[in-house]
Amino acid sequence: MTGTRTPDVLAGIDVGGSKIAVVLADTDLRPLDRHVIPTGAGDAGYAVDRIAHALEAALEQAGRATADLCAIGVGVPGRVEPGQGTVTLAVNLGWHDLPLGPRLAARFRVPVAIENDVRAAAAGLHARRATGDDADLAYLGIGTGISAGVVIDGVLHRGSRGLAGEIGHVVLEPDGPRCACGLRGCFEAFASGRGIGELAQAAVDAGEATSLPTDRPCTAVDVYRQAARGDAVSRRIVEAAGRYVARAIHELVMTYDVRRVVLGGGVTHAGTPFLDPVTRALDGLRAMSELAREALPPDVVHLLPPDADAGGWGGVILARSAARRTASADAGQAASVGPAAREVTAS
Ligand SMILES: [Zn+2]
Repeated sequence: MTGTRTPDVLAGIDVGGSKIAVVLADTDLRPLDRHVIPTGAGDAGYAVDRIAHALEAALEQAGRATADLCAIGVGVPGRVEPGQGTVTLAVNLGWHDLPLGPRLAARFRVPVAIENDVRAAAAGLHARRATGDDADLAYLGIGTGISAGVVIDGVLHRGSRGLAGEIGHVVLEPDGPRCACGLRGCFEAFASGRGIGELAQAAVDAGEATSLPTDRPCTAVDVYRQAARGDAVSRRIVEAAGRYVARAIHELVMTYDVRRVVLGGGVTHAGTPFLDPVTRALDGLRAMSELAREALPPDVVHLLPPDADAGGWGGVILARSAARRTASADAGQAASVGPAAREVTAS
């Protein structure tokens, strides 16, 4: 009878545009299982059902039941109101004011914490000491879009509007291509998965000599693959992306004085073809400036392996915080949604 066991499962859910990843762990953060659904959460009307089904499938795969759940933490690519558990705006998912936290809490009868996916990942990396005992850490998530999560003195930094770390929309080239946010030449336009794919497609459409595919839209995966094979157009795009990523790393270090910048997200899964241009650009900065050499030591960059599940583990850490808050609050309010995730710490 699973219902007689003490609930001991923390569920971390990473909701993306093209997949839902669930990580299950026990309350000592030992991994129990991971489960990935290779389709996105879809529009807001079905999203709660899809996320719930992904969690139920993960529990079943782990030989567990919903009665074993202590708490759920969800990372979403967008702007959230953690206190309400509401996703206020997730452009890539098409969600607007979705009360995801209360709906999942009502369904599973456990506390649910919601946070921006990259910030959740940053909190999780810090709590699990991915870079050792550093009190400060920046995580730069480079996927379809780009944003950063920053932990300062052990506390996740959200900012006054929950926009802290949205550096994907920092303008790098004022005359650059138009971004979905309305500005021109945003960091995302040059270095995100979408931006890299669009730059490659523009080169193909302009008739440039390239080995990039011409029978379907170009993706960042194509560009890194062809760059590794010596395609000049692809190499130009990945070298530029690397320079911009290096600049972002430098800016994160100079702004927050973090010891390390962790890189993760789909684009970074290209591995060496992704990292080499970044390293070259960082070396260029170091060669020019003693201050840059001090700020950017050789181990400043920590590249996550593709199977790191940073988003899912971030969700697990959110869940642990939500479970602890509930345990220390009135035990009779077990199904409430936890307050702001800014309380997420490494403790
Ligand atoms: Zn933008």
